[in-house]
Amino acid sequence: MIRFFQSREFPGRGTFARGIHPPERKNFSENMAIEVLPTPEKVVMPLQQHIGAPCKPLVKKGDLVSFGQMIGKGDAFVSAALHSPVSGTVQKDAVITLPNGRHLQALVIKTEGEQIEGGTLRDEVLSVNWPKDCQGLYDPEGIHTAIHNAGIVGLGGAAFPTHVKIIPNVEKPIQTLVINGCECEPYLTADDRLMIEAPDIIVAGAILAATAVNASETIIAIESNKRQAIINIRQATKNTPVKVAVLKTKYPQGSEKILIKALLNLEVPLGGLPSDVGVAMSNVGTIAAVARAVIKEQPLTHRVVSVTGAGIRQPKNLLAPIGASMGEMIEFCGGLARDAARLISGGPMMGFAFNDLNTPVTKGTSGLTVLTRDDLKRTAETSCVRCGRCADVCPMHLVPTRIALASRAKDTVLCKRYNIAACFECGSCAYICPAKIPLVQLIRTGKTLLR
Ligand code: SF4
Ligand code: SF4
Repeated sequence: MIRFFQSREFPGRGTFARGIHPPERKNFSENMAIEVLPTPEKVVMPLQQHIGAPCKPLVKKGDLVSFGQMIGKGDAFVSAALHSPVSGTVQKDAVITLPNGRHLQALVIKTEGEQIEGGTLRDEVLSVNWPKDCQGLYDPEGIHTAIHNAGIVGLGGAAFPTHVKIIPNVEKPIQTLVINGCECEPYLTADDRLMIEAPDIIVAGAILAATAVNASETIIAIESNKRQAIINIRQATKNTPVKVAVLKTKYPQGSEKILIKALLNLEVPLGGLPSDVGVAMSNVGTIAAVARAVIKEQPLTHRVVSVTGAGIRQPKNLLAPIGASMGEMIEFCGGLARDAARLISGGPMMGFAFNDLNTPVTKGTSGLTVLTRDDLKRTAETSCVRCGRCADVCPMHLVPTRIALASRAKDTVLCKRYNIAACFECGSCAYICPAKIPLVQLIRTGKTLLR
C-alpha cells in the first residue's frame, strides 16, 4: 500500500500549490524493462552537452579511442568532460544542431573492434556491489573528484555539471540532499524503470553524494504513480539512513525549486540556488552515475532513454550510448507508426520538437516521445478571454498572459518587470489556456529578445 509522507516527518505538504494534472500517458512504456540498444555504427558526440563552457577535444581525426576514454576536457569550473561510449576511430569533426536549436561542434566516432554489449554492459552501468554499512569508505574530496572526472551532468534534462552541485561547501552547508525520482513529465518512464530495476545503485549513489556534501538528511522523493518503484526503493533503503518521501502526483513537481517547496516547504529565492536554502538535489539517473563513477571509476557513457508515445510501434526504455542517433532508437523500437506526426526530444510539456533522425542522444536526453496526428488535434488560437487560468496554475506565481503580451510587443522592459526570467518553461499555462495561446513559445521569444 502506498503511504504519503506525513507532515510530522517533513514540514512540506506532500505537494505544492498550483500546477496541473495532464494525462500521464506513462502506460506506453512503464512496464517495459530496460533493454540495451545495440552499439551503433557510429556515435556523434557534441562537445557541449551541459550547461557551461564547451569542453575541448582531446582527440582528432584518425585517433583510436577506447570505451570510456576521455575525448573532451572541460577546463572551466562549470563544464563537463566527455568520454567515448564505444571503441573506435575518430572519423571527423562536425557541426550539428540539437533539438533546442543550438549549433554545436561534435566528434564523430566510427565504432570498430570488440564492444561491450548486452548483459555485460547492463551490469557495468546499472549495478554495483555496495555494502550498505560502509559510508566511511570514501572521503568527500575523493567522491567529488570522481564525479568531476566522470563528466556527470544532471540527467533529468537540465544537464548542469554535477561536480558543481555535489561539492563539499563550508560557506553554504547542505542540510538535505534530495534525490529526485518524481519524473512528472507525461509519457516518460526512464527514471521509473531505473528505480524499479536498479534501486541499489541509486541508494549507493545517494549515500556517496550525501557524504560528499556532508548532508545530515537524504531523501529520495517519488511521486505516488510509481508504485513498484516506491516498493523497490523502500526495500533498498532498509538499514540505511536514506529516507523515502512519496508525493502526490502533480505537474511540474519534478522541477528543482518546486520539489523543494513541496517536500521541505522551503522557497529558493528568485535567481538563487537550492544551496541558498541548504539543499542539494540530483536526479535518480545522475545519482546512479555517481555510484558508478566512485565505486567502479567509470565515466558517464550511457543513459536510460524512454522511447514512447502512440507514434512508435514498440515503446521501450533503452540503455543507450551517448551519441547514438534518435533514428537508431526508433528502428530498434519497430519504427514509426503510420500516423506518427511529431518527434519530441524529452516529453510533450518541456521537450523540443525535431525532425532530423540523425539527432544524437545527449547526456540530457531523457526521452523520445512520438505523437500522432490524433494527439496533435487542437483548436486554432483565439483571443485571450482574460480567464486568468494561466496565472492560477503557474507554480512560479507569474502572470503568463502579461509576459506573452509584452513579448509579442517586443517590450523587453515589461518582460523584465513581469519577471520573465523566473519562468522555467514548464508549459502548465499553455496547457490550461482555453484560447490555445502559445504562451511558452512567446515567453521563449521574450527571453531571446532579452539576451
Ligand atoms: S509562466 Fe512559465 S513557469 Fe509559469 S506556468 Fe507558464 S511556463 Fe510554467
Ligand atoms: S489562460 Fe489563456 S485565455 Fe486565459 S488569461 Fe491566460 S492567456 Fe488569456
